Amino acid sequence: MDATDEVIDICRDLLRIDTTNTGDLDTSAGERVAAEYVAEKLAEVGLQPEIVESEPGRASVLARFEGADPSRDALLIHGHLDVVPADASEWSVHPFAGELKDGYLWGRGAVDMKDFDAMVLALVRQMQREGRKPPRDVVLAFVADEEAGSTYGAQHLVEHHRGHFDGVTEAIGEVGGFSVSVGGDQRLYLIETAQKGIDWLRLHAKGRPGHGSMINDDNAVTALAEAVARVGRHRFPVVLTPTVREFLEQVSQVLGIELDADDPEAAVGKIGPIAMIIGATLRNTANPTRLAAGYKDNVIPGRASATIDCRTLPGQSELFEEELRRIVGPDIELEYIHRQPALETTFDGDLVAAMSAALRAEDPGAIPVPYMLSGGTDAKQFARLGIRCFGFSPVRLPADLNFGALFHGIDERVPVEGLQFGVRVLDRFLQQS
Ligand SMILES: [Zn+2]
Repeated sequence: MDATDEVIDICRDLLRIDTTNTGDLDTSAGERVAAEYVAEKLAEVGLQPEIVESEPGRASVLARFEGADPSRDALLIHGHLDVVPADASEWSVHPFAGELKDGYLWGRGAVDMKDFDAMVLALVRQMQREGRKPPRDVVLAFVADEEAGSTYGAQHLVEHHRGHFDGVTEAIGEVGGFSVSVGGDQRLYLIETAQKGIDWLRLHAKGRPGHGSMINDDNAVTALAEAVARVGRHRFPVVLTPTVREFLEQVSQVLGIELDADDPEAAVGKIGPIAMIIGATLRNTANPTRLAAGYKDNVIPGRASATIDCRTLPGQSELFEEELRRIVGPDIELEYIHRQPALETTFDGDLVAAMSAALRAEDPGAIPVPYMLSGGTDAKQFARLGIRCFGFSPVRLPADLNFGALFHGIDERVPVEGLQFGVRVLDRFLQQS
């Protein structure tokens, strides 16, 4: 069977395995089943996959696809097998039925990211059947737990199975390589070269505890509330990183929009639906997400705390912290509860050329551009090994599909033609990589 046919079957099979990741160890049972399925698909064609479990059931699959020149640095291709929960009552099809309808494969994980897992599996199987080797070693990683922070998946692999990544210098994975129609017969393909950093911070306020009926000018809840409101309303300044600058320059040119370096938001406002993706990468952000204080209606507590979800641009984390400290003031204590640095690489070199050439060969109207993801992926973990990570899981999309909304969204689906397009692009890419 040709990979462009088999990709449909494999994607369907994967969608039918419920790999919901609730973040709770007891309820994430499907990952093991999916890992066994993947391992079997790889073993069937002669590869030697290894299933690695970080905790019972939290399974990832690793395999090395040997290249023609094993002395060259290796390439990592990674995809996660888990998905976020789906409420069947909100969907027009069952989220784990893997339905094929109206030219789409429907199901939780269809774009995030069983589509890419299926493309990689189908392609590797075809290459093995045909006796075609990639030019250099390719490490394949199908991992658990991306959707709840990577602890039981990529982080575990990086910390405890480092040897599998020997010689790996570059990687491709999710959230990049998808098309955005820009009129005429042209499509931007957004290749992810950067990710914002993640800083989850807790703010602590201390005060004088006491009875709720008394005068109290040192109330921890009041102090915390003031600080949280200041943070929530603060607009951090626009900082154009190299990735975002290059993206805006290229997009402005394609769309015939004027780009004012002093006011890039004006240009972002004119680029259509992708503004949603790009807008958050112009500046650092800090969003209050949780509050905790008090234990009785008539008692003023001595402490109050809040959580702030902060996303920082590459190279900005120290400046951001200084600014945040100024905003909250000297009496509020800051505690980091989760930290992952931002990533940024350049949009150049042989691997980028291979991605761009593969896209152009399959879509003459393709315009590959770099972009920054405002969220984070497993790339954050693999980057710890010094690996240069890209988001490149190519898929060509119909002009009217709001792709961004499908991620973790209701009626998540992937166009079958887009999936097949992805296999062909990956094939060309791999040959040139
Ligand atoms: Zn994902």
